[in-house]
Amino acid sequence: MYDISNIKKKMLTRDNVIYLIKKYKTPIWVYNADIIIKQIKKLEKFDIIRFAQKSCSNIHILKLMKQYNIKIDAVSLGEIKRAILAGFQPNNNDIVFTSDILEEKVLQEVIQKKIPVNAGSIDMLKQIGKKSPGHPVWIRINPRFGNGHHIKTNTGGDTSKHGIWNPIKALSIINQYKLNLIGLHMHIGSGVNTENLYQVCESMKKNAIQLNQKIKFISAGGGLKIPYSSKDTETDLEDYFNKWNNTKKIISSTLKCPLKLEIEPGRFLVGQSGILISKVYAVKNMGKNTFVLINSGFNDLIRPTLYGSYHKITVIYNSIKNTKNTPIIKSIIAGPLCESGDVFTIKKTGIIFPRNLPKVKPGDYLIIHDTGAYGSSMSSNYNSRPFIPEVLYKNGKFKLIRRRQTIQEMLSLETSL
Ligand SMILES: *Cc1c(COP(=O)(O)O)cnc(C)c1O
Repeated sequence: MYDISNIKKKMLTRDNVIYLIKKYKTPIWVYNADIIIKQIKKLEKFDIIRFAQKSCSNIHILKLMKQYNIKIDAVSLGEIKRAILAGFQPNNNDIVFTSDILEEKVLQEVIQKKIPVNAGSIDMLKQIGKKSPGHPVWIRINPRFGNGHHIKTNTGGDTSKHGIWNPIKALSIINQYKLNLIGLHMHIGSGVNTENLYQVCESMKKNAIQLNQKIKFISAGGGLKIPYSSKDTETDLEDYFNKWNNTKKIISSTLKCPLKLEIEPGRFLVGQSGILISKVYAVKNMGKNTFVLINSGFNDLIRPTLYGSYHKITVIYNSIKNTKNTPIIKSIIAGPLCESGDVFTIKKTGIIFPRNLPKVKPGDYLIIHDTGAYGSSMSSNYNSRPFIPEVLYKNGKFKLIRRRQTIQEMLSLETSL
């Protein structure tokens, strides 16, 4: 039921990849809309799916989400603007602003556009309460535990800056400023193990009943896992939904109010839809190690450097001649940046970790897989390298959804003063 490998194969034919390389050059991000749609469908039992757009914030991806009735979580003014540009209606619960701080310009925007605020700090509640009594708010509760695929993606417990530790105190501020509490939210991390995901249900139940308010929504947050390597498994969604749905029913009957159950995935919807295509420029032997150097680095995809994340990597040969019986070489795949951590085959400890890869030479191409989430959206201009293009594959056609940034555009912030 959950297999998406056939959808992947359809987009990733050699002809398609060569066409993209010729047309747009490398490096380049490509997303497969069919995979995003397939992932959306797996979650359709939830009352509301709210896409954590920070995972992949291209306006055209947001537009695709909108066609499938997805709502949006925005975490900055820029993300609110993106959602509005993609057609989401700000005063219609389409957009929720989640943060732990409220900068002046965001405060202005959420008040003016009546965007509900999911508050991760009591100070935020005070700031919005002073300026906009009656404003719809959520409490993002820190359930006092967290989890994630890496310590840096754990967003719960006393080592995390996220969420409100004492929801009872938040409620007293909400009452003091006559804010309108509409929902309770928990998000304990990204790439969370099942046991911890389920503990969130218990904590939500306990907190909701203790607060005893007539709310409209509860949110299970995001954090659902996707398989990056063949050893990984996807979260059992049937079971996950049932547990949350029971939680919803218990809270709803105890509080005597109808409730909608939200889920707020980022990675789950887009992670497997994306690839990064790059070109091999050098192959060097350094003592016992073979380095394959490509033209994308952690300025494009930072997950391996930041978290030691695993991404599957495959080869597309420039010429299909002599590609039979190619030897497998233990290769370290690295980027162009002047920084030794610019490596894609790396362990969580930061130690380089060779990967078995068919022998390549300059001019061949590497595809880094499952880069749809926290790929492009985490890119930077480090080493003064411009942002690379994004292409969307939909209905059998490729469409450019972001062009390559020019060096002139990148420098214009400094030259056009
Ligand atoms: C990042 C984030 C998510 C999404 O996390 P995933 O692991 O990508 O599903 C959801 N909610 C909030 C508040 C987040 O910050």
